[in-house]
Amino acid sequence: MKRTCYIGELNERHVGQTVTLQGWVNRRRDLGGLIFIELRDRSGVVQVQVEPDSPAFAEADTVRGEYVVEVEGRFQPRPEGQRKGGTGDYEVIASRVVVLNRAKTPPFELDKGDAVAEDLRLKYRYLDLRRAEMTRHLMLRSKAVAAVTQFLDASGFVQVETPMLTRSTPEGARDFLVPSRLNPGEVYALPQSPQLFKQLLMIAGLDRYYQLARCFRDEDLRADRQPDFTQLDMEMSFVTQDDVLEVQERLMAHVFREVLGHELPLPFPRLTYREAMDRYGSDKPDLRFGLEFADVTDLFRGGEFAAFADAGTVKVLAAAALTRKQLGELERVAKQNGARGLAWVRREGDTFTGGISKFVGGQTALLLERTGVEPGGTLLFAAGEWRAAVTALGAVRLSLRDLLDLASGGPRFHVSWVVDFPQLDFDEDSGSWTYMHHPFTAPHEGDVALFGTGRQGEIRAQAYDLVLNGYEVGGGSIRIHDPAVQARMFAAIGLSEDEARDKFGFFLDALEYGTPPHGGIAWGFDRLVMVMAGASSIREVIAFPKNNRGADPMALAPSPVDAAQLAEVGLQVLGGE
Ligand code: ASP
Repeated sequence: MKRTCYIGELNERHVGQTVTLQGWVNRRRDLGGLIFIELRDRSGVVQVQVEPDSPAFAEADTVRGEYVVEVEGRFQPRPEGQRKGGTGDYEVIASRVVVLNRAKTPPFELDKGDAVAEDLRLKYRYLDLRRAEMTRHLMLRSKAVAAVTQFLDASGFVQVETPMLTRSTPEGARDFLVPSRLNPGEVYALPQSPQLFKQLLMIAGLDRYYQLARCFRDEDLRADRQPDFTQLDMEMSFVTQDDVLEVQERLMAHVFREVLGHELPLPFPRLTYREAMDRYGSDKPDLRFGLEFADVTDLFRGGEFAAFADAGTVKVLAAAALTRKQLGELERVAKQNGARGLAWVRREGDTFTGGISKFVGGQTALLLERTGVEPGGTLLFAAGEWRAAVTALGAVRLSLRDLLDLASGGPRFHVSWVVDFPQLDFDEDSGSWTYMHHPFTAPHEGDVALFGTGRQGEIRAQAYDLVLNGYEVGGGSIRIHDPAVQARMFAAIGLSEDEARDKFGFFLDALEYGTPPHGGIAWGFDRLVMVMAGASSIREVIAFPKNNRGADPMALAPSPVDAAQLAEVGLQVLGGE
């Protein structure tokens, strides 16, 4: 290797030496007869100075931004007063410059990266990835993969690859389908997760499995979703929920320590689903800050304020002083999240003014006591059916976080568990019960008897979510290993025996051949890396993501396909553009 080292590795040790560096021209400037080249590689930038009488001058004079060059020269400290820290403390006095390749003028200025339209960045992603921030994201991600692999290998986990061309796995999204040429009229589904395969690996006796698995879900896109994404998928046999959570905590702590040098306090706090919803209005509460709800249902029951008098639940949040404009914004959020409005009052001395204050008079003392609202502070109320009320106020809580920058006062990272999710969820639209996690999740043993009764909504699942700074970064469960319980679960979600056999017959067969008790979890790996990197979208930590319309503007995927290729797989396009 001709190169002395990466630019970012240059240090005091190299002072006085002749170094050879290779990279891209970040910027070229001419000043007082000198040429200055900022040379960049994936590790950093250093300034190269080419003097008019240098043998390198003629070649250096041809370079432009993004040319690929090799530079040889003397490494020395920059004059005092011009030192910028790191490699910015030094410069290279060039004795040789070789242009290894030229470059067209980039379609956007790389150092304006963030301000550039996303589709342009994605179209020229290889240029976008040259930006220090993006390179840092990919390197951080690679380190996280290494840390995970190291920990799980050392803990007896076996890495196994499961198929990409398979059949539907129920994770609640639409499937991506791949037509089969050899079996005309039939399709494969890309896996929404390796769920059934990892359970089969437990039945096979592998005992500890993991995989960095690509998963495919055809759903509407948001900042933290991609149609193809990566899960860190794990499964363990002969374990209880506590066993799974304990390994996960050590793994997560290991990853943060190795990648960021950050110590996460263990164990992570655990909240039940009910508590999380009741106190924070979310099943993935951001616990970097407090702002917990108080329950005041009883204070208004049967009272004169009709909107609260017969509400199932009245919750209240004690916020700081808020402007009219802020209140308006919060009301908009509450409405967007299903509330009819956002009732509020302001504390003045020991009374309440504004908003609905004329209705709270009699309860002033108790409201003050339960909410602890500061003088000048605002109380924000949500009332209605329990889940609707807490969800709306939960959204208001997150808006307050953003409006008042509440998270910055807390820890940089806060990880917690949400446990005891409901086993079943009632879908109002179809009027039927459906699974909350997936249909293979085990209920709490003591709750099994509630299947098929009027109380099946109360069945708690042995399911858990891992929550980081308000993002769900992992989810899993103990699985059903008893075919009789599996049958009751299918019955509860209205899946007949025939339908179940049709969908997962192979798996139901396997369950009857000696299935060990087992459970596992999958991390949303992109989302985790996004939060660790401090990025705002998972697209920022995926090398080649799709845009918000599910398309790749660089490779132009998806794309039309010619008739011959379609005919080969037995397809004909009916509608579309
Ligand atoms: N397959 C589940 C998911 O993708 C994770 C798990 O239960 O392990 O969410």
